[in-house]
Amino acid sequence: MIDLHTHTTASDGTDSPSQLINKALSSGITTLAITDHDTTSGWGEAIAASRAPLSLVLGAEISTLTTEGTSIHILGLLFDGEDVDLQAMLTDTRDTRIPRMRRMIELLAADGIAITMEDVIAATPKGATVGRPHLADALVKNRIVASREEAFVDLLHNESKYYVTHIAPTPESAISQIRKAGGVAVIAHPFASRRGEIISPATFSDLVVAGLNGIEVNHRDHSQNERDQLIEIADQLSLVKTGSSDYHGNGKLNALGENLTDPEEWERLESLANARRVVRK
Ligand code: AMP
Ligand code: ZN
Ligand code: FE
Ligand code: FE
Repeated sequence: MIDLHTHTTASDGTDSPSQLINKALSSGITTLAITDHDTTSGWGEAIAASRAPLSLVLGAEISTLTTEGTSIHILGLLFDGEDVDLQAMLTDTRDTRIPRMRRMIELLAADGIAITMEDVIAATPKGATVGRPHLADALVKNRIVASREEAFVDLLHNESKYYVTHIAPTPESAISQIRKAGGVAVIAHPFASRRGEIISPATFSDLVVAGLNGIEVNHRDHSQNERDQLIEIADQLSLVKTGSSDYHGNGKLNALGENLTDPEEWERLESLANARRVVRK
């Protein structure tokens, strides 16, 4: 069982990297990728906790914005974590998430919603990439809403008047940085329509030129029809097709391993990295 997209307390998941690895081992997952938002800070703990028979794939989910302002998430897997340019790109994105969070809080507070930056900091694990799920957790704590889900539906979704984007690289530049750092790049949940604007099929060709290796086809946020369309696009462009849970612990309904990647597809994806970086103990 191969699950190539999960989150930990290094971003907005609720399991620490070692808790996640223990869950993966006990649920029969054989290959697990850890892909926190815009950070590799969970890698060290994950490597330490990893053990046979698990194969650990280190990665990150990079937030990007097209020049038209569409949000696209790119999964970078098997890249060199010490690549200076890639780390600088991640640091820049994390830095701009802080003024962005302050702005969202200002907009909420101006409408009489009781929330402060201190509340959000208190809801964010130490060292984690701060994001809307932490703001959601703070709103739950302040009894404004009952759950993360309700916070997103009522206040924090991409079309909300309280939504603010942060500065992010273009998908093309994120893909080319991942590839320069020796890794492989997969576009995450491209047709996740609930999250805002959807990517047009033509956009995929531009991303292939930048070095895209794969498309996340099997994901909770894709209907069967959307999966069928993505299979067609992937086959036309000779891209690897992946499937994954996008597990966030208690932060989302997504169950670990609920969508999986075929072993042949994973073998092909892994062979496209410039070195063997899967951690096996
Ligand atoms: P941000 O990167 O700060 O814009 O926040 C995006 C994060 O919010 C992603 O990790 C999503 O998984 C998460 N998210 C989006 N919609 C929901 C939802 N309805 N419930 C919980 N988390 C969500
Ligand atoms: Zn997330
Ligand atoms: Fe995502
Ligand atoms: Fe994700």
